[in-house]
Amino acid sequence: MSDASGFSTRAIHAGQPADASTGAVSVPIYQVSTYKQDGIGGFRGGYEYSRSGNPTRTALEECFAALEGGSRGFAFASGLAGQDTIVRSLLVPGDHVVVPSDAYGGTYRYFNQIARPQGIAHSIAKIADVDAVRAAIVPGRTKMVWVETPTNPLLGIADIESIAGVAHEAGAVVVVDNTFASAYLQNPLALGADLVSHSTTKYSGGHSDVVGGIVVTGQQIAVPGFEDAGDRVAFNQKSIGGIAGPFDAWLTLRGLKTLAVRMERHCDNAEKVVDFLTGHDGVSHVYYPGLPSHQNHDVAARQMKRFGGMVSFRLTKGEDAAVKACSAVQLWTLGESLGGVESLIEHPARMTHASVAGTELEVPADLIRLSVGIEDIDDLIEDLREALDIHA
Ligand SMILES: *Cc1c(COP(=O)(O)O)cnc(C)c1O
Repeated sequence: MSDASGFSTRAIHAGQPADASTGAVSVPIYQVSTYKQDGIGGFRGGYEYSRSGNPTRTALEECFAALEGGSRGFAFASGLAGQDTIVRSLLVPGDHVVVPSDAYGGTYRYFNQIARPQGIAHSIAKIADVDAVRAAIVPGRTKMVWVETPTNPLLGIADIESIAGVAHEAGAVVVVDNTFASAYLQNPLALGADLVSHSTTKYSGGHSDVVGGIVVTGQQIAVPGFEDAGDRVAFNQKSIGGIAGPFDAWLTLRGLKTLAVRMERHCDNAEKVVDFLTGHDGVSHVYYPGLPSHQNHDVAARQMKRFGGMVSFRLTKGEDAAVKACSAVQLWTLGESLGGVESLIEHPARMTHASVAGTELEVPADLIRLSVGIEDIDDLIEDLREALDIHA
């Protein structure tokens, strides 16, 4: 299989040759901690101990690197374990990071309550506005710009290419959290980003049955003591140990094989949900990057293949109606997380974003967030219609 192969070909085959000893077409789950050595230091395939390497994890790491067009992939126990490894690989106390104003709540909590007490400062910027990002950069101190696009829950769009230009001019690296778009809809490295981070818990795994994270490095960038950031991430992955276990790696790899077909259906369904919501009297705002009225629709159209499966909206009647509508649905599941085959509904202000209440990241109280799944669209819309007709 060549680098020029299409996305689904890479998803199904990259890093996954048939098993050398049995011909098994599905990568075996190497549920093992240690490996027999052929004489001291005689490692077979480089495997010594499963914190530093495991063949099931390697398959996922190679596959993901191929999907993002990167050089190396690293699989973690969760998206946040991957983020932590990135930060500790690239930053030292005294450095400064620019963080998006509507970053994932856990990302904000990480920078505010884990990184900051350890000497890594941050400023919050509206990431959809390149000038705001430029203004937030502290010359000489800002070493990283953390980008999320689309953002959660307001589906803001950041212009990755422009931000990369501004950050690189200031000597900062750009990390893109590509969780919401998935590697199928957007490839940040091709737009100038230096590293990509995913919570594979979401679209990559896709079946709400596994928590995981991925980091993919792009072109070589030197970091203190290492010729390439990828070597440093590899060193930290094994030295900190927040790795994906073999079964979790296997589940994620299994999810990736259908990522392209799932994303097409998520997008088809989301577009129809958006049509329904924009035509409903009780809905005051609909947030979806595919809407021509969306603030950065043109940027999204340029850097994404399609506009994704996440939709947020607000109700004219306010918070109480939003809370009631979330509980009135039958088919949509009230729950956190996103990106699975099943449709989810949630109230960010009281659920996913409760921890950012009272901060610059606070979200509107009348907001509802949808993770549009891949069920039959008529059933999804009928269920929403019934809930909104009563409460909105
Ligand atoms: C869920 C999520 C994370 C955190 O990932 P975990 O796998 O839950 O640790 C980070 N960023 C975004 C955008 C997310 O949705």
